[in-house]
Amino acid sequence: MNAPLLAATGISKTYANGSRRVAALDQASVAVTHGQTLGLVGSSGSGKSTLARILLRLIEPDAGRIDFAGVDLLSLRGEKLRAIRRHIQMVFQDPLSAFNPRATVGSALADPLRIHAIANPSELRAAVADLLERVGLGPALALRAIHEISGGQRQRVAIARAIATKPDLIVLDEALSALDVSVRGKILDLLVDLQREHGIAYIFVSHDLAVVRAISHRIAVMDAGQIVEHGPARDVVANPQSAAGRALVAAVPRLRLNA
Ligand code: ADP
Repeated sequence: MNAPLLAATGISKTYANGSRRVAALDQASVAVTHGQTLGLVGSSGSGKSTLARILLRLIEPDAGRIDFAGVDLLSLRGEKLRAIRRHIQMVFQDPLSAFNPRATVGSALADPLRIHAIANPSELRAAVADLLERVGLGPALALRAIHEISGGQRQRVAIARAIATKPDLIVLDEALSALDVSVRGKILDLLVDLQREHGIAYIFVSHDLAVVRAISHRIAVMDAGQIVEHGPARDVVANPQSAAGRALVAAVPRLRLNA
């Protein structure tokens, strides 16, 4: 088998809140293959966001190792870390907090193209229109402010910004959780299409096993900071081996029928 695109091994993290210490992650290990989706599922507080943020180098683990495309990710600093950020993008639950709400959609999409020298100034307008088209939005949206557009449009813009740098991996943390069911379905379809077209790998974090099942090739189940189960999505849903996996499957009975 090919080496995974990203492999995180033995990741531990304890938060200190004054005298209280919270062991958020305890020796968690996950891997994702090029062009595939790893679903990371678990109840609230199980450690999903902490792991996602560590993979993005937004917070530092206390222990563990992350290999990304043959690079020891945790050893990178300064310019080398900035350079690799282009290849690992992110989409969070609340895109309003991820953007300057007063910025126009056009400038929010032009920024990464400029910063990473993907388009020169004369090409920017066309490159922004192309990104909007790829996520199913018209070019006129470029002139609107981020705070004026709908939640579904904003999440499409967040996805457009994530794909702007042609990443190998996008980490999506509860990215569809705030959206209406119908909008969520359309954006799931969009993510699948973009993955097929561009070969992007996703780490898709959610408390909702039904959504995770719809997009994932493999699923890792988290409970109390540990990965308690990790396998092909179909197997995890049809025959969960862990108590946490069984509880998540029991919460969505129709899943078993379709597994
Ligand atoms: P999930 O994403 O699965 O809901 P989190 O990674 O957000 O889980 O949280 C895991 C544990 O770490 C929880 O007990 C949570 O309360 C705690 N935690 C998360 N962030 C912090 C923080 N910044 N400071 C202290 N404790 C935190």
